[in-house]
Parts: sequence; C-alpha cells; structure tokens
Amino acid sequence: MNNCCIETSPNCDARPADEIVSLVVIHAISLPPDCFGGPGVRQLFLNCLDPSEDPFYAEIQHLRVSAHYFIRRTGELIQFVPPEARAWHAGASSWRGRERCNDFSIGIELEGCDTLPFEPVQYNVLADLLDDLCRSFPVADIVGHSDIAPGRKTDPGPCFDWQRLLSSLSLSSGAVSALAWKLAQASEQA
Ligand SMILES: [Zn+2]
Repeated sequence: MNNCCIETSPNCDARPADEIVSLVVIHAISLPPDCFGGPGVRQLFLNCLDPSEDPFYAEIQHLRVSAHYFIRRTGELIQFVPPEARAWHAGASSWRGRERCNDFSIGIELEGCDTLPFEPVQYNVLADLLDDLCRSFPVADIVGHSDIAPGRKTDPGPCFDWQRLLSSLSLSSGAVSALAWKLAQASEQA
C-alpha cells in the first residue's frame, strides 16, 4: 500500500497451511471508548497499554489482539500485521459455516464508535485498501465484525455507511462484488 505506515504487532502467527484469504472483516474501535486521536489503539496492538491512563485499560490490558490495518479519523493508515499472516481480530466467529475467521480473513479497524459518523477520508482510504486487497487475494466477501460474531460484537456499528463504501470502490477490483452480500442484507433491513 502507498502511504502505509508499518508498525509490527507481536499478536499474530502463521495462517494454517494452504489457507487462502477469502474474507475481509471491517471493525471499529476507539480508546478510550468514544475518544479519538490518542495512542491507545496502537498501544493495545503493541501490548503496551498503560493502565494508569484510563480505568478501562485495566480491564483490557491483558488482551492479546491485533488487526492487519488501522485507519485513523485523519485517514492515516497503519499496518500492524502483514496480510499474509494471521492477525487476532475476529475472536469466536463464523462465516458461511466456517469457524475461526482469523484463519482466512484480513481485519481492518476504523477509528470510530457507535454514535458518530465516520470521516469521509476514512471511506476513501478504506476503499483504496479494499481495492488493493481484492486485487491481491481471492476475497469473496467483505463483512462487518457484527456479521461474523452476531450477538457478541456490534462493530463497525450503525454509523458505518456501507452504501457510501460501495460508491467509493473501483468497479474493476472485485471489491464491489465482495460487498454484494452485505448490501443485500442492509437493504432487507431498511
Ligand atoms: Zn471488531
């Protein structure tokens, strides 16, 4: 990716042998919750969260989690795990009858929350990233964390605009068809 800052999270390992990437999972996160721009998410993925910074951090500092990519409110893109490796973002999950979605997915975190719209630049950076990933990997579906862990996870949440993401994608990359399932589901609920 162009303009991608690289940080190396230790929270990853190898995908199972012969596994291919067929899924992209979109998440939202903010640390402390509903606060933007601080170092918390980076520190969480690098296992250096400071529990004296916020009471919530004491609850989550034991977690060993990561995502492949993080897109800040400013549009800054950071890679924490290379897409070939397995990041630890999905947790208990299943998609089309398969469990352990970390095995076959790429996880992208957007800095965001359930109550505020995402920034226009985040959609642009996400769309460029998805176009690139769909050219490099046989991605069949792009979904939200809430789609693979219903009842347990709600992100990227009600403020994430799937239609806006669709309109930002390149028609030639394959990402549009990978989003078809999600858009069909969204229009059923509308
Ligand atoms: Zn998530």
